[in-house]
Amino acid sequence: MRIILLGAPGAGKGTVAKLLTEFDGSVQISTGDILRSAVKAGTALGRKAKEYMDRGDLVPDALIMDIMEARLQEPDCRNGFILDGFPRTIPQAEELKKLLARLSIRLDFVVNLDVPREVILDRLTTRRTCCNPACQAIYNVKSNPPNADGTCTLCSHETIQRDDETEEAINNRLETYNSKTAPLIGFYEKEGLLKTFLSLSSKDTVADIKKALGA
Ligand code: AMP
Repeated sequence: MRIILLGAPGAGKGTVAKLLTEFDGSVQISTGDILRSAVKAGTALGRKAKEYMDRGDLVPDALIMDIMEARLQEPDCRNGFILDGFPRTIPQAEELKKLLARLSIRLDFVVNLDVPREVILDRLTTRRTCCNPACQAIYNVKSNPPNADGTCTLCSHETIQRDDETEEAINNRLETYNSKTAPLIGFYEKEGLLKTFLSLSSKDTVADIKKALGA
């Protein structure tokens, strides 16, 4: 499959993308994951991206397009790809359209994950991540808590809130989504590529997407 996943932070794009990769060998391409790895590795890209990410702001379009132009031409994309967190702005969507035309790649469709705002806020503020780089287990303080002292159940390291999951950064990410990314819904509607799914359970959403793909 060749699809784009659109949705607010916390809408479940990452979870849905992972479940979809198990289905037909398509790769998940998450610009957020690529950037977080670069920050951790301390590369030039990571050093440039970190301050934007910590504030919950978007990284400049030019940096993202350089990453994606290279990534979409890697051999593992030949079986298909699921774009998770990209494009995030109208200029990125316009550049992507040109890039796909140049590479003779056609998208199946664009998935818009529609999740109520209170569900999103709850998911984002209750997430905790193990600070051990080799583990990075993800917890939810309500539904899947770490140990009572806040340590990881797998490796006993501390679990923390991601820098961009403090209340201030979350509010900023949601505002950024509304102003910069939500307009992509109209963009892809005009392109005739948009399919919106009310998404409360990732498993149900994945089943609906597979059905739309004719699988
Ligand atoms: P995510 O994990 O997708 O929520 O991304 C985490 C952070 O990485 C975002 O808050 C942005 O700072 C940055 N980021 C990820 N994808 C993009 C993108 N396509 N354009 C600009 N910034 C991005």
